Amino acid sequence: MQFHNPGADVFVPDGSEPEAALARTTHLSIAAHQDDIEIMAYHGIAECFGRKDRWFTGVVVTNGAGSARSGIYGGYSDEEMQKVRLVEQRKAAYVGEYGCQVQLGFSSSQVKDSHNRAVIEDLEKVLRVARPETVYLHNLADKHDTHIAVALRSIAALRAVATETRPKKVYGCEVWRDLDWLVDADKQVLPVSARSNVAAALVGVFDSQVTGGKRYDLATAGRRLAHATYYASHATDQESALTFAMDLTPLVENPKLPVADYVLAYVERFRGDVEKRLKGL
Ligand SMILES: [Zn+2]
Repeated sequence: MQFHNPGADVFVPDGSEPEAALARTTHLSIAAHQDDIEIMAYHGIAECFGRKDRWFTGVVVTNGAGSARSGIYGGYSDEEMQKVRLVEQRKAAYVGEYGCQVQLGFSSSQVKDSHNRAVIEDLEKVLRVARPETVYLHNLADKHDTHIAVALRSIAALRAVATETRPKKVYGCEVWRDLDWLVDADKQVLPVSARSNVAAALVGVFDSQVTGGKRYDLATAGRRLAHATYYASHATDQESALTFAMDLTPLVENPKLPVADYVLAYVERFRGDVEKRLKGL
């Protein structure tokens, strides 16, 4: 497959031919950075792990340039660091038994440039072959601009290919800002208790990120446990780990639906919930 960047990387852990590997996709995640998928889309990874009838594909849009570095990575150039992060993402794909791992290699500024069509075109190319049933994107109330930009480009690509392939479900997932604030009726509750060993390994392989003191491995597991515990005040915990998502399916099904209006309606419902309790007690 030909993508815009010559350094774009397609890795198939089981050695299948890349196009065939991509074509078997049932669950797909499109994320900004190496390690985002493992934090936000473990639900999809776990759904496919060890199965022959379901396959998970990860797409990382940026090249990992400019990432923080310390310890053994302290003296690494930007180019060396990009290589480290690319290899770490491949390690995760291997551990998680992904069907295919695509790394498109764009810079953050290219992704954030709304006039740059290249990102959308590459994503359309992936989507036409992968034809996923379930898609995991960044949520649109994230606080990292590159995450939001990747989600917006992903929605544009999904809308562009909608006549050829339309996923049944599109989730907006948690990384930089969780979704505990959504009113319960709006929460897409994704159970992720399965194989906590694999879940831990998937975040743990990103040594260059964790080693600098950012304990994404512990924080990710902690957030999932906290969600499972605090989700319902009266029920006992059915799951030991949950992630929450925002349903983005309507934005793909209705290309005329303005993205900002759609997301702000969630904020309004949260506001209404707070107001109702304060005024009613
Ligand atoms: Zn990220």
